[in-house]
Amino acid sequence: AASTLSTSFSGASSATAIIVASKPKALTISYQQLTQDVLDFQTKLAHLGVGNGDAVSIALSNSYEFIVSFLATSWQRGIAAPLNPAYKQDEFEFYIEDLSSAVVLVPHGSYDKDGPAVRAARKYNAAIAECYLDGSKLVLDVKEQGKLAQRQTQSVAHAQPEDVALVLHTSGTTGRPKAVPLTHRNLTRTMLNIQNTYELTPKDRTMLVMPLFHVHGLLAGFLAPLKAGGSVIVPPSFSARSFWDDFVTHKANWYTAVPTIHQILLKNPSPNPRPAIRFIRSCSSPLSPKTFGELEKTYGAPVLEAYAMTEAAHQMTSNPLPHKGKRKPGSVGLGQGVEVRILDEQGNEVPQGKEAEICIRGENVTMGYLNNEKANKEAFTTGGFFRTGDQGKKDTDGYVYITGRIKELINRGGEKISPIELDHVIAGHPAVSEAVSFAIPSELYGQEVGVAVVPKPGKSVTEKDITEFVVSKTAKFKKPSRVWLLKEIPKTATGKIQRRRVAESLLAKDG
Ligand code: ATP
Ligand code: MG
Repeated sequence: AASTLSTSFSGASSATAIIVASKPKALTISYQQLTQDVLDFQTKLAHLGVGNGDAVSIALSNSYEFIVSFLATSWQRGIAAPLNPAYKQDEFEFYIEDLSSAVVLVPHGSYDKDGPAVRAARKYNAAIAECYLDGSKLVLDVKEQGKLAQRQTQSVAHAQPEDVALVLHTSGTTGRPKAVPLTHRNLTRTMLNIQNTYELTPKDRTMLVMPLFHVHGLLAGFLAPLKAGGSVIVPPSFSARSFWDDFVTHKANWYTAVPTIHQILLKNPSPNPRPAIRFIRSCSSPLSPKTFGELEKTYGAPVLEAYAMTEAAHQMTSNPLPHKGKRKPGSVGLGQGVEVRILDEQGNEVPQGKEAEICIRGENVTMGYLNNEKANKEAFTTGGFFRTGDQGKKDTDGYVYITGRIKELINRGGEKISPIELDHVIAGHPAVSEAVSFAIPSELYGQEVGVAVVPKPGKSVTEKDITEFVVSKTAKFKKPSRVWLLKEIPKTATGKIQRRRVAESLLAKDG
């Protein structure tokens, strides 16, 4: 059965699994080679004492080392805990202690530099190992060998569907990040759902641009294409300049990314001649209908917006491929192997078209947060649906529209205003490159609408232009009370906007 990561791709094939797009020479790895490298690495982890339920923190950026150590940990019944390599020591300490990591994997040179991950690992007595490629050979260089005497060598294990394979943290957009355990069953279900949604086959080749330490890159950018037998091109880091070069050189035909990355690519010259792109996937943040249109026009490919979250092992809904149905700009499409219902606070389905909380059920959904009883009590309905915290509605075709996070809706004297809807309206102004709406405190209404606007390069807009534009397009109560013109809007590592933070920092500057 394909319900563990160790049985979910064809290990005997000589087809290309991974292309490490390093310069000047790329490294091509077959499925056979990948399988062998993962098995060797698994044996090394077993010798390090990693067994059932032991956490391995992977503080590596996108690389072949990451891929092999992630798969090997899960095959060994360990828990892979990818960490953003850019974390500061405090953050590493928090995550390494939280999971009592047995081993921390760091890049070549970190040990001599005594980097933050190394110091954090030492503090919590985890084994420290550098992991890197020497030519095409994968090296696991264990430091401070003395520590290992305390750990018992384990035998090579066989993963089970209900084993936790991965722990990731939510992005922390609305509060403190929550630890989400995901089992082999959760992950393989999403891999199948994504494979089905986009009809991925061994002929497909994808460019990995999203970080592997979040579900977007890990599931949609890497694991699903691997399950389908396709090839994954792994550049050492995202660079808008070399993106299309790599895309063409390595014959990619699709990619998935957050809207911010699509926008960065659009600002760079488009590839000439235009490569044959089967589809472009957008996920993790709202894609404005304007950017959707620009992408389809510039790259001549269908743009499929999807909706995902860490707790769902990534994907819940997506717009369909053109031959399967319509794609609707502004909508995140239809449930894909996942049940989606719009439920009220009592857990009852609301009439079609009405807005309430988007709730989901499926084999991909986590069994609950780690060490967070309170969050778990609130997260599930009695019918076993998971509450996403997002507000939305369905149209008559069943397409889902996200109108905002419940915590971030703007409540102006009882009128609920969707910040996402306002962002899209304002982004439609010809001189606007990006807009973010949020609640600002108001004595009269409780909350009023604030907007931060980034003008397009070389264009200028005034506060009045924006408010008049909004009034011409929406009901009057949605008119912004304040408009800030900014050069840039700060984002998280996953390209998300923390509306409350943006509001707080702008209001604080006012004094
Ligand atoms: P936290 O839960 O810690 O506040 P987070 O919810 O941003 O952070 P993730 O699990 O990375 O952490 O993101 C899931 C959320 O991202 C969804 O609940 C939804 O609000 C948002 N999201 C995902 N895809 C889309 C999309 N296509 N359009 C709009 N929002 C999206
Ligand atoms: Mg969340």
